[in-house]
Amino acid sequence: MERRSVDAVVIGAGSAGLNAVAELEKAGANWLLVEGAQYGTTCARVGCMPSKLLVAAADAAESVERAEVFGIRAQGVDIDGAAVFERVRRERDYFVAGAVADTERFPAARRLMGRARFVGPTSVQVGEALVLDAKAIVIATGSSPVVPPVLDPVRDRVRTSDDIFELRRVPASLAVIGTGIVGLELGQALSRLGANVTFLDRSEHVGPLTDPAMQRYVQTVLRRTMKLELNVAVSSAEPMEGAVRLRWKSAEGEERVGEFEEVLVAAGRRPNLAGLDLEQTGLPLDERGMPPWDPQTAQCGDAPIFLAGDVNGHAPLLHEAIDEGRIAGENAARYPDTMRHVRRAPLTIVFSEPQMAIAGQSYASLDQARTEIAEVSFENQGRARVMARNVGLVRLYATRDDCIFRGAELFGPHAEHLAHLLSWSVQQRMTIQRMLRMPYYHPVLEEGLRSGLRRLARQLKVESGRPCEDLAVSPGM
Ligand SMILES: Cc1cc2nc3c(=O)[nH]c(=O)nc-3n(C[C@H](O)[C@H](O)[C@H](O)COP(=O)(O)OP(=O)(O)OC[C@H]3O[C@@H](n4cnc5c(N)ncnc54)[C@H](O)[C@@H]3O)c2cc1C
Repeated sequence: MERRSVDAVVIGAGSAGLNAVAELEKAGANWLLVEGAQYGTTCARVGCMPSKLLVAAADAAESVERAEVFGIRAQGVDIDGAAVFERVRRERDYFVAGAVADTERFPAARRLMGRARFVGPTSVQVGEALVLDAKAIVIATGSSPVVPPVLDPVRDRVRTSDDIFELRRVPASLAVIGTGIVGLELGQALSRLGANVTFLDRSEHVGPLTDPAMQRYVQTVLRRTMKLELNVAVSSAEPMEGAVRLRWKSAEGEERVGEFEEVLVAAGRRPNLAGLDLEQTGLPLDERGMPPWDPQTAQCGDAPIFLAGDVNGHAPLLHEAIDEGRIAGENAARYPDTMRHVRRAPLTIVFSEPQMAIAGQSYASLDQARTEIAEVSFENQGRARVMARNVGLVRLYATRDDCIFRGAELFGPHAEHLAHLLSWSVQQRMTIQRMLRMPYYHPVLEEGLRSGLRRLARQLKVESGRPCEDLAVSPGM
């Protein structure tokens, strides 16, 4: 068995791992990067990018269909599913090539291929013939889709986000198991591209929004175009000729059965910890096999071991994986003199139609006793009506004692952009009064946010009596 000693080993060449090695390189450390499968990252290969490409195709189809509202009639929308998936894969391959090139910019001598597993507190074995002894180790092994055991009889017939983009055409019928972000984005896009889609989820929730008022509104709107079976459990799955038959019990207790050409399982993702033999590190592990982990240092306890990206189960999003990779790489180079980092304001976006977002604190994470809530509907919002996209609701949260804006849950047109403004305001710890002093053009969707903020200002009783605030709540526009 060959043995090598280095300053740091990074396990996993995804977005988190690549950012960790970038920091180690900057610090002048002697590092090695170990990848067990292939370069190209989950985000580019089977995550963010191909999913947004599919959503973009659905948006294009829908804008042709919706043009009639404006008096523009297109003759017969013809969706060529083969061409849709060809473009998804072609553009996906472009993004993957970019990620592979970014990886291969690091010297070949520092990049090893093979699965890594711990064989000692700071030693990892790569493949069968090499052991690396390191002063610090960054684990950035990502996460994988979970397929519930009830689907075992049809395991080779169901798809996950790992292989859905390999479809050659839009299926006539599709069951989507899971109404979280991935299931919603992919299932709704395929529905808008012509598939007859049934969504099944054992929870009562659609998407990540935690505010019960938001959930009620979202579900009412989505049920207009989507078949949502919530609060249900799939009880059996059988292979059929060219289809899969699923049985489930409806929320009302009725036995239901459906046959689907394709089944997409989007029932969550599990951190890739299995097979790493983490017990060799001596770290205490919880029932999920997860060691203690600090989001501000990315460190596990006091050990020279760092977790970055989806593997820590903290916030499985690309920008968080990048930040955690940077924090882990920097601290692996500095160990034991680790630095604590202030994390960014939370931001989650769902590329559904309409879009959903959580900017800053979610409803569930608020200190309810201190929180004032105001809401604004987009059903009569000026710009939304102009665009014939006047569906939506935003709930805004501020603390009563200091009038600081804490967060919002959003559902509506261009929520991706509105949520950025709001999360930036959270990170700046802006008061409602300061937010209202910002410029608002006319007519724009941001005016809808202003209406909600004015409402919050009134509820917080900070709307009048001070010259600047008078400006912010002037009647009229
Ligand atoms: C369908 C979908 C859509 C998404 N859309 C968005 C979005 O719009 N916006 C957003 O912010 N996020 C999105 N995400 C989430 C985002 O893709 C992830 O948060 C991000 O890619 C995680 O990066 P990572 O570096 O942690 O993991 P990865 O990129 O998965 O990297 C992990 C690497 O570790 C390797 N590895 C695993 N085990 C071992 C081992 N034992 N030895 C060696 N190597 C190993 C793997 O092969 C892999 O290359 C989406 C995810 C999915 C699935």
